[in-house]
Amino acid sequence: MGPIVPVSSRSDVLAPAPKRLHPTGVNAPQLRSALEALPAVLTLADIAAGAFTVAARNAALAAANAKAAAALKVQEEGLTEEDVEVRCMARTRIPTAYGPVFLHVYHNNRDGKEHLAIVSDPAQLEADAPANGQKQQFVPIRSHTLDTQSHDGETAQERITRGAYVSRLSRTAASASAVPSARTELSDSPLVRIHSECFTGETLGSLRCDCGEQLDSALSLIAHAPGRRGIVLYLRQEGRGIGLLEKVRAYNLQDLGLDTVQANLALGRGEDERTYGVAAAMLRDLGVGSEGIRLLTNNPSKVAAMQREGIEVTERVPMVPRDWQLRSAAPHAEWEMRSRGATAVGGGVVRSEELEKYLRTKVERMGHLLELPAARA
Ligand SMILES: [Zn+2]
Repeated sequence: MGPIVPVSSRSDVLAPAPKRLHPTGVNAPQLRSALEALPAVLTLADIAAGAFTVAARNAALAAANAKAAAALKVQEEGLTEEDVEVRCMARTRIPTAYGPVFLHVYHNNRDGKEHLAIVSDPAQLEADAPANGQKQQFVPIRSHTLDTQSHDGETAQERITRGAYVSRLSRTAASASAVPSARTELSDSPLVRIHSECFTGETLGSLRCDCGEQLDSALSLIAHAPGRRGIVLYLRQEGRGIGLLEKVRAYNLQDLGLDTVQANLALGRGEDERTYGVAAAMLRDLGVGSEGIRLLTNNPSKVAAMQREGIEVTERVPMVPRDWQLRSAAPHAEWEMRSRGATAVGGGVVRSEELEKYLRTKVERMGHLLELPAARA
């Protein structure tokens, strides 16, 4: 098993640009020919009727090859899925429109990315909150690796600086957490959202997708859960795992008439390249055990992925787009919805023709479990 390497010391972070211009290295000619064919040969109706299937099939084969190569790499390095290791490097309190949360920064031995866990568990901030949770209704949602000693002779000040403290820090109060002798499991199934980073949707407020609204909704739903408890895992896998650069290219293909799935395939990428091994390891580190989680998602493959990674999903909690909720709501409902989470980019109700197309693609092409609303009058 490889050690957990701090991102800043990884030699590949500042490595020169890869030799292959196209990340998969297999599909550039095919992409070029697909693009050349597009305006002249394909119409939107053609695409809908499957005229793009040859290119899509080739692209799917290329994606399968890339996946096989990745699997081989795992084999060569002697790693298996069970060897995923994560460590919470630090956490801190962040006050949000929905109440205080703890932001956890993780490192892992699978990629050089800093995945995040946003934990809502405000009982931990009470001054008399016991470290071991015995007097509390719920076991506190804490990271085991955060509370573990980071090195021999670690001081209380060092522990507190990286967030291994109990209750709330202030000028007059600071208590380092106890070093746990064993992992503590949660006794409830917290509400969990597994969210993948989306710079365009969350930071720019892009109306091509609903990621900003979904992140905001997840925090809002957790704030209304029992004990206001829950976890948002924020995974750095932009664009369903293909990265920002490829996502930007895919958006151009979408402007040419492809939907979100077809665009990924035309680039020689999978329709969804996200993985959840690190996410499962982070949940286990936060104490998720035999009681499992209640997962906020419309995506049945995400439920299946978590089960595959050994995380029990006791309930799937749907996330209905706010615009779709409003189609059947009273006129004042929109105003009420807008007034929530006013500080988040996605805090209002996002609505656009492009977004509507994206949402419908998720239901019609990606099996998301939502009822399509009637078209807007
Ligand atoms: Zn997005």
